[in-house]
Amino acid sequence: MIRKTDHQTIAPYLKDASNYSGGCADAVLIPETVDELVEFLQSNSLPVTIAGAGTGLTASRIPHSGVIVSLERFNAIGETGEGWIDVGPAVSLADLQEHLRATSYYYPPNPTETLASIGGTVATNASGSRSYKLGVTRDYVLEADVVLADGKTVSLKRGQPVSEPLKLNDGSQIQFPEVDYVSPAFKNAAGYYVRPGMDWLDLFIGSDGTLGIFTRLRLKLLPQPAQILSGILFFNEEENCWRLVEKIRAMKNGPRISPMALEYFDRFSLDKLRPKHGAIPGSARAALFFEQDVARDEDYDATLEAWFEFLSQEEVSLDDSWFAQNEKDIKRFHQFRHDIPIIINEENSRLGRTKMGTDMAVSNEHFMEMMQVYQNELSKSGLEYVVFGHLGDNHLHINLLPGPQQLDLAKTTYDTLVEQVLKWKGTVSAEHGIGKLKKPYFAKMAGDHGLKELKKIKQALDPKNLLGRENIL
Ligand SMILES: Cc1cc2nc3c(=O)[nH]c(=O)nc-3n(C[C@H](O)[C@H](O)[C@H](O)COP(=O)(O)OP(=O)(O)OC[C@H]3O[C@@H](n4cnc5c(N)ncnc54)[C@H](O)[C@@H]3O)c2cc1C
Repeated sequence: MIRKTDHQTIAPYLKDASNYSGGCADAVLIPETVDELVEFLQSNSLPVTIAGAGTGLTASRIPHSGVIVSLERFNAIGETGEGWIDVGPAVSLADLQEHLRATSYYYPPNPTETLASIGGTVATNASGSRSYKLGVTRDYVLEADVVLADGKTVSLKRGQPVSEPLKLNDGSQIQFPEVDYVSPAFKNAAGYYVRPGMDWLDLFIGSDGTLGIFTRLRLKLLPQPAQILSGILFFNEEENCWRLVEKIRAMKNGPRISPMALEYFDRFSLDKLRPKHGAIPGSARAALFFEQDVARDEDYDATLEAWFEFLSQEEVSLDDSWFAQNEKDIKRFHQFRHDIPIIINEENSRLGRTKMGTDMAVSNEHFMEMMQVYQNELSKSGLEYVVFGHLGDNHLHINLLPGPQQLDLAKTTYDTLVEQVLKWKGTVSAEHGIGKLKKPYFAKMAGDHGLKELKKIKQALDPKNLLGRENIL
C-alpha cells in the first residue's frame, strides 16, 4: 500500500468543490488491492475518510483528523453483460460514458460533473438532469463489494432486505436496528436511506463514506435511445416557465411528451451565462433545458411535432428558443447547463466568497408555492443570487452570492428558506448529500429523535465511529 505523509502531497486531498478549508490528515493511504485495504483496517484505530475524485460539494471527503484512504488505484472497468457493467469505484463518469459509447448501452445517472468517481456518486447517491424521468444513482446499483470499518467484507446484491441479517463474507452477521425514522419518498440525499422494504445495498448507497468502502460496483445500464430530442426554451417571464413545467408534469410522461430532463435557469443565471453564450435572447428572463429520449428513429419526427404543437400554445419565445439539430448541439446544451455551476464556483474561488448553495427539494404539491417563496425571500434579502437546477424534481440550487459584509444576511436568508422547506416536509439535500457543511440543516430536518435513530444504524456497522467521521450525524 502506498503511504504519503508529506504535507504537499496530502494537501490536494483536503479539498473538494465546496471551497471548504480547515481539513487535516496524518497520511494518505493508497491501497492497490482489497487485501491491502482489509489488512490495514483490521489493525487500524484511526478515523478513516475515503477520497473519491473531490468534486463533492459538502466537504464530506475532507477529514479533520486521522488518515485518508484513496481508492484511486481501483480504476478498472471490469466485466460487462447484457444491461450491466462492473467498475472499480475510481472509474470516472466521463471514462464510463466514453467506454459505453462503443456499446448499445448507457448509464443514465448524469450529475453534470463527469470527473466524479463512480464510488463518490454511489456514496452520495448523486443524480442530475435526467433524474426527473430516469431516477437517481440508487436505481442503477445492482451489486457492491464493501469493506467495513473493521476490515470485514460483504458482497451486497439486490434482494437482500434489511429485515434479514446482513451476512458478512466471514460468516458473521449484523442485524439492522429497530428504527422508526423514515426517509422522504421524493428525491432525497439527506441522511441514511430508510424506507420500507429496502435492501442492505440501499442503506450503503448515499451513506457519504460513513458505513463502508465500495471496492467494486455492478451498475445497471439501459439501451441507448435511438435519438435524443433536446432544446433550450426561453421565456419573457419566469412564471411562464414554472407553469409550463406544471403542465408537462401533469401529462405524467405521456406517449409523446415525456422528457427525462427539465432544467431551469432564472434571469440572474442567464446574466452570468451571457458573456460566454452571446446568443441568449436579450428579452429572456428564464430558460428551460429539456431533453427527451426517443427509443426508435421512426418516432423522432412525431415526437418533435408533438413538442412544437404543445409549445406553440404556451407562453414560450419559440422563435428565440434553441433546438438541437445534431450531436454537437446536444453536447453544447449540456455544456450550457454545466457552465452555470462552473461560473459560480470560479467566481467564488476568485473572490474568496464562501459557497452558499442550497440543494433542497419538496414534493410536487408545494412546487408553485416554493417558487413564489424563493422569489419573494430572495428579492427581499437584497443579496445577489442565482437560481438554477432540476425544476422537474422541485429541486433547485439557489446560490447566494454575498459581499464581504453580507455573510450574516446570507446565512439568515438561507435559514429562512430551510425553515420554510421543512414546514413543507421537504429535504435539505436532494442530491449532494449532507457531508459536513449541511449538518446543521440536517439536524433540523431529522430532529433530535431522528438523529438518535440514525446513530443506531451507524453504531451497528461502525461501532468505533471510524469511517467518514463528522459526516451526516
Ligand atoms: C460543477 C459541479 C456540478 C455538480 N453537479 C451535480 C449534480 O448535478 N448532481 C449531483 O448529484 N452532484 C453534482 N455535483 C456534486 C458531485 O459531483 C457529486 O457529489 C459526486 O457524486 C462526488 O463524487 P467524487 O468522486 O468527487 O466524491 P468525493 O467528493 O471525493 O467524495 C464524496 C463522498 O463520497 C465518499 N466516497 C468516495 N469514494 C468512496 C468509496 N469508494 N466508498 C465509499 N465512500 C466513498 C467520500 O468519502 C465522500 O463522503 C456537482 C459538482 C460540481 C463541482
